[in-house]
Amino acid sequence: DNEDLRLLILENISQEAVKAFRAQGFHVDHFTKAMSEDELVQKIGSYHAIGIRSKTKITERVLKAASKVWVQYHSHNFYPNKHSSQLLVIGCFCIGTNQVDLLSAAKAGIPVFNSPFSNSRSVAELVMSEVIALSRQYFQRAFEMRDGIWNKQSKGCWEVRGKTLGIVGYGHIGSQLSVLAEAFGMRVLFYDVVNIMPLGSARQVETLAALLSESDFVTLHVPELPETTNMISTEQLAQMKKGAYLINNARGKVVDIPALIDALKSGHLAGAALDVYPSEPGSNGAPFDDQLNSWSSTLRSIPNVILTPHIGGSTEEAQRMIGEEVSSALIRYLNYGTTIGAVNFPEVDLRAITLEEPNHVRVCYVHNNIPGVLRQVNEVLSPYNVEKQYSDSKGEIAYLMADIADVSPSDVNSLREQINKTNANILTRLL
Ligand code: NAD
Repeated sequence: DNEDLRLLILENISQEAVKAFRAQGFHVDHFTKAMSEDELVQKIGSYHAIGIRSKTKITERVLKAASKVWVQYHSHNFYPNKHSSQLLVIGCFCIGTNQVDLLSAAKAGIPVFNSPFSNSRSVAELVMSEVIALSRQYFQRAFEMRDGIWNKQSKGCWEVRGKTLGIVGYGHIGSQLSVLAEAFGMRVLFYDVVNIMPLGSARQVETLAALLSESDFVTLHVPELPETTNMISTEQLAQMKKGAYLINNARGKVVDIPALIDALKSGHLAGAALDVYPSEPGSNGAPFDDQLNSWSSTLRSIPNVILTPHIGGSTEEAQRMIGEEVSSALIRYLNYGTTIGAVNFPEVDLRAITLEEPNHVRVCYVHNNIPGVLRQVNEVLSPYNVEKQYSDSKGEIAYLMADIADVSPSDVNSLREQINKTNANILTRLL
């Protein structure tokens, strides 16, 4: 009875994702544009799931509208079908989730999924191209040719084979890059705040200073955090080898750009590639000038600096993977209650899926994280054989999943009602 489930898909999300939803039998309304808050408030009440990118804002007001219908049913203790008519899940078909009020969503029992790692490979490949472009100065040569200047040079141009790549942050991107760089014959060092098993022949170093002083290329792959803001400034640039290169595809605030400009102008660094900036234009065509970042024109005038407009993760493959990853997370949640990978919710899953067996019911119980709840729920479940049960909490929200056997179809509604009556209940689904 998946046709009961209605999905609102906005912002031209990939056709593969839409196909995957339709293959599940879900009803999908698919639009190319974002919706305004007012439009959403009007429409969202009739959907069980919404898929967005970064332009649609899911505010507290939208979330209230999303659960209004359910509240009415709730107060009358009336459940028209197994999926009460309220928004159950939000899919952000992108990396960031700032466009959603995550806390209000969690409090309404709505997990939010995104796709944090689908573009790791794309970023790693861009970095490899930058390593070679910098060490061969080919951006400069290509610019000169466009001006009609023939300038064949080998001075200051190097192979990357045998050179040392220093990776700061050995997560999804840093570790992919490690493998690619070794395939090019580079020696790989990395620095990370946690101990990580090196891939291939890479080696973890104890301090950032050790990495900076040994590397011919330093590439940054840390998240934006208070500790990583201006992580590379005058002192760290001075620790880098003379003639080394700096590459930043992480977040703009990680590098102190005026300090980088000094290091490039003095000739201490031989070049840099930047894909991210402290302030970035909001749309294509908007100027990247001194009004946005005061040093912009100075940076643009330095040779052997490669500037790209935050394209590290922008590939067709990454877009397709986002579609696959987020659609399968939504399908898993709607069909099986699994919250693994949710950004605002306790992550819960039950391994074996016994839902297809007759008289098996999976209880998915989102509740306030207060004492005494499990006692109440287990009281309700006690007449049945609980095959598996797992619960976890995150902040004020907790989520319990239980697979129970031997539930006769006539018991299902009363079971749901009893769980709904527990004082901590936020949202209960029986699958
Ligand atoms: P990740 O979370 O998988 O890895 C980050 C690593 O950094 C982790 O291993 C973590 O332990 C380490 N780290 C955290 N703080 C540190 C510190 N102070 N010093 C050293 N190491 C530290 O993240 P990821 O997916 O590899 O992404 C890394 C960065 O790349 C993120 O900032 C992300 O926003 C950015 N990114 C940029 C683009 C782009 O288009 N340019 C695309 C995707 C991701």
